[in-house]
Amino acid sequence: MLEQLQAWLKPEPLEFVVDPTQPVVRFAQVDKSYANGVIGLKSLNLQVNMGEFLFITGHSGSGKSTLLKLIYGEEKPTAGEVWVLNTCLNSLKGDRLAKLRRRIGVVFQDYKLVEQRTVAENVAFVLMAQGYNRGEIQAKLTPVLDRVGLAAKADCFPAQLSGGEQQRVSIARAIVNSPPLLLADEPTGNLDLENAWLVVNIFKQLNATGMTVLITTHDQDLVEAAAHPAIALKAGCLVG
Ligand code: ADP
Ligand code: MG
Repeated sequence: MLEQLQAWLKPEPLEFVVDPTQPVVRFAQVDKSYANGVIGLKSLNLQVNMGEFLFITGHSGSGKSTLLKLIYGEEKPTAGEVWVLNTCLNSLKGDRLAKLRRRIGVVFQDYKLVEQRTVAENVAFVLMAQGYNRGEIQAKLTPVLDRVGLAAKADCFPAQLSGGEQQRVSIARAIVNSPPLLLADEPTGNLDLENAWLVVNIFKQLNATGMTVLITTHDQDLVEAAAHPAIALKAGCLVG
């Protein structure tokens, strides 16, 4: 109980907080071309407000992953500005970029779990790296594993889990630090319909708690069934 309280009282970093009067993500006339001259995004303007749940659709190669990479600072724009949590990312690097990234949860199509670590260890890893103590980590871990329905599998290794379960571990890892913004790049791409829905429903529940959620997918049926707004990319341009 004391440990739980301590975890609770740990002050939030003052940087990169959500200002409800400002967009969580803003792209202003963003171009991204890669070193080999390939165009990833072209003249992109986009605003995502707090609490939104938005799908980004488009065929393979249309720029979906590029868009997310610009939000979590994996890539920099060639022109224009990318703003996330009231911070311009264009020249953000080092410690400040690392701090901003802690405020963004990211989920990938291929889960990216560490095979030699258990479910609990995979999820706790980012907290250990940030210097949280054992009690604080446990206090964060338990509710998050419950939320993704994997409390009973905390001591399993990734290879002992189904694809859907592995993806839910990666969601737990992405949200364990309660980020205001969650990005998911084709999170259902490797899953069957039933598991895809389990994952989408977790995103819906997280969004209902106020988290802003951005999901890329090329699966139009999923977008229609999920009944959330969607934007579409084609050859790096916004087309709808
Ligand atoms: P999507 O996620 O919609 O499939 P991407 O954003 O991955 O699309 O890619 C958009 C375009 O940028 C594609 O033509 C792709 O080949 C190219 N691209 C992506 N990453 C790189 C890179 N690191 N170097 C060169 N070209 C890239
Ligand atoms: Mg992609």
